[in-house]
Amino acid sequence: MSNSLSQMTPAEIAASLNLKPFQGKQIFRWIHQKRVFDFDRMSDLSKDLRARLAEGFSANQLELVRVSASPRSEGTRKALFRLADGETVESVLIQDRERSTICLSTQVGCAVKCSFCATGMSGYSRNLTPGEIVEQALYLLRDEEMGERTPNIVFMGMGEPFRNYDATVAAIHLLMNPDGLGIGARKITVSTVGEIKGIERFSQEDWQVRLSVSLHAANDATRTKLIPLNKKYPLDVLLAAVRAYVERTGRQVTFEWTLLDGVNDSRKDAQELIDVVRTVKASVNLIPYNPVAGLGFNPPPLERCEAFRDALVNAGVTATLRKERGQDIDAACGQLRRQHVELAS
Ligand code: SAH
Ligand code: SF4
Repeated sequence: MSNSLSQMTPAEIAASLNLKPFQGKQIFRWIHQKRVFDFDRMSDLSKDLRARLAEGFSANQLELVRVSASPRSEGTRKALFRLADGETVESVLIQDRERSTICLSTQVGCAVKCSFCATGMSGYSRNLTPGEIVEQALYLLRDEEMGERTPNIVFMGMGEPFRNYDATVAAIHLLMNPDGLGIGARKITVSTVGEIKGIERFSQEDWQVRLSVSLHAANDATRTKLIPLNKKYPLDVLLAAVRAYVERTGRQVTFEWTLLDGVNDSRKDAQELIDVVRTVKASVNLIPYNPVAGLGFNPPPLERCEAFRDALVNAGVTATLRKERGQDIDAACGQLRRQHVELAS
């Protein structure tokens, strides 16, 4: 919806309604800081302005269908949204005592079709708009008093962010806006499967937003089996792009490695990863696979996950293995998928 205000900056709101800059800010604050989408409740706006808004604009584009709590860990909430064209997306909020993390989707489905991923299996419909991306966070934080503690944001939901580059970047700017959620760049992480052009463009952004690269295997045969895109951008091409990114920005990247039983969890796999990290400044985030019915992959037993991590750490690689609750954000993220059946019922 072109008249949706959630994806406009304060200046854009002011310009499209012919308002003074401070009025653009007021409306932006209602939507992003107070998470109020009902113009009637925007009590410091004049009646006239509220009527004009109601006539020609909407504050939001998403319809919240359902929020469900995770059966496995309290503090985890998954939201299902319906878009104006009937498509659906999901996002997740994970909270524990120390921090909260929100996992956002950037596309409906994903055309990359990684063989272990629920989103890839569901096919690809379309890109999300910046408003549709930001609103996932606004809805999930609707009843939260954040105070000083803003959440972490990870772009690890449905879709490949670098195949929807401009909308992802616009959404990040909205999330960082000090009149909105005001989330610090360092608390935002974009995860890419390895879209080279996106990595190049991202290195030119003048900010401290973090980059994660989904590696999952450090030899081409295994990586191609998991990620068909590896045929187009094999490891040497991908790693050259990551190296160039690190050199240009001086920022560290994180490699994500979804641990799959018998696929990428051996001592040899760990050694190949160690060899890669010797040539690229990166830390490693190990994510035990969250099984998706019908895809034929399983997580390794815990001891094997720990042995993999220990091999990395003993070789001087910074590696984390998130278990139990902490692991949930990654695992829950990786499991997002479209829920036609549930919606229809
Ligand atoms: N398309 C991007 C971002 C979304 S996926 C990417 O691939 O990086 C975010 C992360 O979740 C990726 O590292 C992905 O490999 C991982 N993932 C996907 N499905 C998963 C699952 N079922 N269990 C654990 N991790 C999964
Ligand atoms: Fe797409 Fe990422 Fe899933 Fe691969 S892992 S299909 S790139 S969402």
